[in-house]
Amino acid sequence: MQCTEQKINLLDFDRRGMESFFEGLGAKAFNGRNVLKWIHKHGVTDFDAMTDLSKPLRGQLKAIAEVRVPEIVFEQPALDGTHKWVLELDCNNRIESVFIPEPNRSTLCISSQVGCALDCSFCSTAQQGFNRNLTAAEIIGQVWVAERELGKSLTNVVLMGMGEPLANFDPVVTATNIMQDDLAYMLSKYRVTISTSGIVPALKQLKALSEVSLAVSLHAPTNELRDQLVPINRKYPLEELIPACRDYLRGDKRRKVTWEYVMLDGVNDSDKQAKQLIRLLEGTPSKVNLIPFNPFPGTGYRCSPPERIDAFRQRLVKAGIVTTTRKTRGEDIDAACGQLVGRVKDQSRRELKHSGGVVR
Ligand code: SAH
Repeated sequence: MQCTEQKINLLDFDRRGMESFFEGLGAKAFNGRNVLKWIHKHGVTDFDAMTDLSKPLRGQLKAIAEVRVPEIVFEQPALDGTHKWVLELDCNNRIESVFIPEPNRSTLCISSQVGCALDCSFCSTAQQGFNRNLTAAEIIGQVWVAERELGKSLTNVVLMGMGEPLANFDPVVTATNIMQDDLAYMLSKYRVTISTSGIVPALKQLKALSEVSLAVSLHAPTNELRDQLVPINRKYPLEELIPACRDYLRGDKRRKVTWEYVMLDGVNDSDKQAKQLIRLLEGTPSKVNLIPFNPFPGTGYRCSPPERIDAFRQRLVKAGIVTTTRKTRGEDIDAACGQLVGRVKDQSRRELKHSGGVVR
């Protein structure tokens, strides 16, 4: 792992960025499109293998640029087929990506920041604090590495790992552009999902620039409770958040907002709160995803009992809201929601070795 000044990383560019980079070199925009394809469609990082580039252009590229992918330092399969990769970004930072296979889908859950600044009271990432934003290269690099390791294409990508995607706006938009590009991963707008705690101005900006699907961490039906669980609510309360999410759908009948709702015993799981939630979502095309709380050391919360989760779900379903309960995946390898970590100091190689996976 190099920790000094490095060359320009071509993983940082979406189609527009790549075209203008090549034009800046005095080459052609189509050279940029070809390189995008080599990197993301064919997994090629060596300029000499990019046979449709002229020799002088390859030489020029080698002098100033490279395709630098995150390095896997550790990987761990779970009993249920979930697979976690710990990626090293630089001397101080690591992130985790989680592959979640399902019968008809292969989903990768990726991170957008190292740590998180939002301080949601039930999330273990919040407890580590915020370290830094990821670059576009580090975000799309997680997808690149997963496809290389799996030897097959992903069908879905969710930005539901560490970090708040809308607090790292430009790199997230660049990376999601690459995911959706026909020259790269070809994922439709329905198959790339950003999960956000609800940064309203960024949501409005996103609507102008992107069409990715939206999952919103709601977790409470009233401002009073949401202020405690998701403190960004004090800045962007429900009366601003809900209409902004509805607007994001642009009236597209195929689209719905996915509302994430973590089930916390005795905190947000009563029948009364289910009713309040139904009222809150009236008029917004919605899906609700109930997430059983995943505990972590030091937390004061408990997960709602399964019967309570089911009763809560039934109430929403009766009101006509599509509601699913998220199956907890990868629990045995600490890969479940809210359990991802990123600080190197929490994860020395020795500790990783003792946790039963493969150190690379
Ligand atoms: N910052 C983004 C992505 C966060 S992680 C966001 O807020 O949406 C994805 C989801 O996992 C969020 O809904 C988050 O609230 C939830 N989550 C966090 N900690 C959790 C935990 N311990 N158990 C279950 N879900 C959790």
